[in-house]
Amino acid sequence: MAEKKLLFVVQKHAASHLHYDFRLEIESVLASWAIPKGPSANPRIKRLAVATEDHPLDYARFEGVIPQGNYGAGTVMVWDIGTYTNIKMHNNKLVPIKDCLRNGQIEISLNGTKMHGNYALIKINKPAPGDWILIKMRDEHANQKDITKAYPDSALTGRSMSAIAQDKKIKSKKVSNK
Ligand code: MN
Repeated sequence: MAEKKLLFVVQKHAASHLHYDFRLEIESVLASWAIPKGPSANPRIKRLAVATEDHPLDYARFEGVIPQGNYGAGTVMVWDIGTYTNIKMHNNKLVPIKDCLRNGQIEISLNGTKMHGNYALIKINKPAPGDWILIKMRDEHANQKDITKAYPDSALTGRSMSAIAQDKKIKSKKVSNK
């Protein structure tokens, strides 16, 4: 049986520190993790992923600037977007994704523009409670490439972070000229 395709998105977020927000559609919300160094396609590299608050599904396509004074103020880029399927098996049965999230043992196959193939997201509660790691599983999509550096721009619009930030400045100028 073909597994259901669900939404995933990675938003590059230049807040007080640059990080990558990794989000998975689970039961009609985006379960979310902040990854300071961003995802890697190299199975030898574990990336810290700090669990953060769920976001609404329609936030997945948000690209723009969160104004100063608001939570998460800074530029947000849709760095990658696509679909995922749950591949976590136990006793030859697929474990429902909701249970994977609760158990802290997620295995998924990603079909994005930059991220491809199988990844594991594992709750380790180290160095702090709520800390997970994201790691590429070994498959034909694993490679040594630093994907955050190789593909820095928006999956949605092709824009750079500075172009997105600039776009907002033009908009706010128009507003103030009214
Ligand atoms: Mn963020």
